[in-house]
Amino acid sequence: MISNLLLQKMVINLLGLVLFHLATTPWPKAISSTSYPRANPIHADIILRSNGGVDFRAHKLILSKASSFFEDMFKLPQNEKMKAEGIQVITMEEDQHTVRLVLDFCYPVAEPMFSPSEMEAVVQLLRALDKYHIQGGMKRTERQLRVFAPTHPLRVYAVACRYGMNETAEIAARHSLQAPLWPSIAQTKIPEFSLITADCLQTLLQYHQRCRVAAASLVDDLKWIIDPNFTWFQCKSCSPASGGPVRIKNGSMTYHPRSWWLKYMKDVQKELYNRPIGSVVLDADIISASVAVPIRVCDTCRATCVGDMLKFCTFFAKKLDETTSRVPLQLELK
Ligand SMILES: [Zn+2]
Repeated sequence: MISNLLLQKMVINLLGLVLFHLATTPWPKAISSTSYPRANPIHADIILRSNGGVDFRAHKLILSKASSFFEDMFKLPQNEKMKAEGIQVITMEEDQHTVRLVLDFCYPVAEPMFSPSEMEAVVQLLRALDKYHIQGGMKRTERQLRVFAPTHPLRVYAVACRYGMNETAEIAARHSLQAPLWPSIAQTKIPEFSLITADCLQTLLQYHQRCRVAAASLVDDLKWIIDPNFTWFQCKSCSPASGGPVRIKNGSMTYHPRSWWLKYMKDVQKELYNRPIGSVVLDADIISASVAVPIRVCDTCRATCVGDMLKFCTFFAKKLDETTSRVPLQLELK
C-alpha cells in the first residue's frame, strides 16, 4: 500500500515535472487580458492563460480552496520566467469559455446555466473540473448534465459512467429506452463512448434486454388487468381470439377476448421489443387500426371500443413504465 505521505510527494513531483515542461516549452503569449468579473484585478495574484491566449486574473487563495490541484500547484516554487506584469501565469489546455466556467465554480457565484444546444460545453466543463479536482463543481454540473438526458441519453450515460455518476447514469439509461440501441450505436458516432469501458456499454445493452423482456411479458400474462368490463371481454358478437380464454384480475376469472383486441396486443408486443416504454401502447396509428375492425363489423363493440381502448391504453402505458422502472441497471461505478 502506498502511504498518503508518499502519494502526496508523488503528486508534488508530478506537478513539478508539469511546471518544468511548461517552463522548457514555448510559452504561449497572451492575445488579450481580462479580469474574471468576480475578481478584483487589484488584488489578483495569479493569471490563468487559456488555450488561445486569453488571460484571466484571479486569486490563489480562492482557487486553492476550490481545487486541491491548484492548492498543490501553488506550493511549488514559482517560475520567474512565467510572469506577466509581475504575476505568475498558469497556461491552461482549455479554451477561454471553459476557463471562465471553471472560475465560475471556484468563486461563490450563481451556478452557470446551459442552453439545450450546449451539451458539448457541459462535457468540456466536467473534463476540466475533474482535471483540476473541483469536486463541488462536479456535483453541481452533474445536475446540468441530467437536463440533457431526454435528448442525448447515450451521451449523458457515457459521461456519467466516466465520472462515476451512478444516479445520472440510471436516469440516462431509462431515457435511452425511447429508441432501440441497435442499429443506432452502429450507425451514429457517439464521441463520449470513447470515455467508457466496454463493460459499461454491455451493462446498458443488458439493461435494455431486461426491460424488453419485462415489457413484452405484460402481453403474455394479463393478470395485471383489473377491469373485466371492457367490451373485448364482454362482447359475444364478433370473433373471439384463437387460443382459448385468458386469465385477468389476478387470475381469479377467465375471459375470451375478441380477436381484434388480441391482435392489437400482439402488434404492441412486437414494438415493445424495440422500445419498451409506455408511449408505444398509446400510438395513435396502432390504436386506430385496431378499432377500425370492430367499428366496421361489430354492433356491440362499435359503441364503446374507442372509449374503452383509450381508458385501457392509458392504464397499460402506466403499467409498462412502472414495470420497467423496477428493472435495475446493475451498474457499479467507482
Ligand atoms: Zn364485438
